[in-house]
Amino acid sequence: MIAAILLSALAMSAIVAVRYLLASGGFAWATKLRQPGLYAGQRGQIGREIGWSLASAGIYGAPAGIVAWGWRQRGWTRIYDDVHAFPLWWLPVSVLLYLLAHDTWFYWTHRAMHAPRAFKAMHAVHHASRPPTAWAAMSFHPSEALSGAIVIPALVFLVPIHVGALGVVLSIMTVMGVTNHMGWEMFPKRLVEGPAGRWLITASHHQRHHEQYRCNYGLYFRHWDRLCGTDKGLGRFGKV
Ligand SMILES: [Zn+2]
Ligand SMILES: [Zn+2]
Repeated sequence: MIAAILLSALAMSAIVAVRYLLASGGFAWATKLRQPGLYAGQRGQIGREIGWSLASAGIYGAPAGIVAWGWRQRGWTRIYDDVHAFPLWWLPVSVLLYLLAHDTWFYWTHRAMHAPRAFKAMHAVHHASRPPTAWAAMSFHPSEALSGAIVIPALVFLVPIHVGALGVVLSIMTVMGVTNHMGWEMFPKRLVEGPAGRWLITASHHQRHHEQYRCNYGLYFRHWDRLCGTDKGLGRFGKV
């Protein structure tokens, strides 16, 4: 049993690592096409971003792999396979609830990590990327990675979610994690600067966090930043 749990954790770490390499690699390639030369002179930094991110993949995979084993072998978690086990409207609602819960956890832990001592110990690694690139998506100190790695594995015990909807949550998490750091805005201006953009976080918002540090702490949504007075609006990119 222990061997099976270990194997599941290892397999999940490998999946997270491959997912990271494909997503960050894909958007780094898109950056090369859309913004040639944007990452010029950042080879050393990118190497460090990849190193920390692969270590984080190992950390993210451990709780996820253990929970995945328990889900399949022991019926743990509230992940369900039969799409009709809950009303169909629950599919989008559950996705939204997961994103809101993750965003809340992220906002408050991220904000706490900007206190000077915690910043040095846990969060300085992430901000060593100046400016970040598409490879910085998982560039975290192991202690920060651990704080992020437990969120979804904890939520699946609390909030029912269809396995496909969980896939949607993980895909949004992956894509936004990469694109928020890639140094340019891929979403249309009309969305980013329009009414939806007042509530949603894209690269322009997180860019300002990496410029000014003590503002724009959110992950997907701006409501916590706006409520707490930490929203300083959208950042600007050097090259567009
Ligand atoms: Zn960041
Ligand atoms: Zn930060």
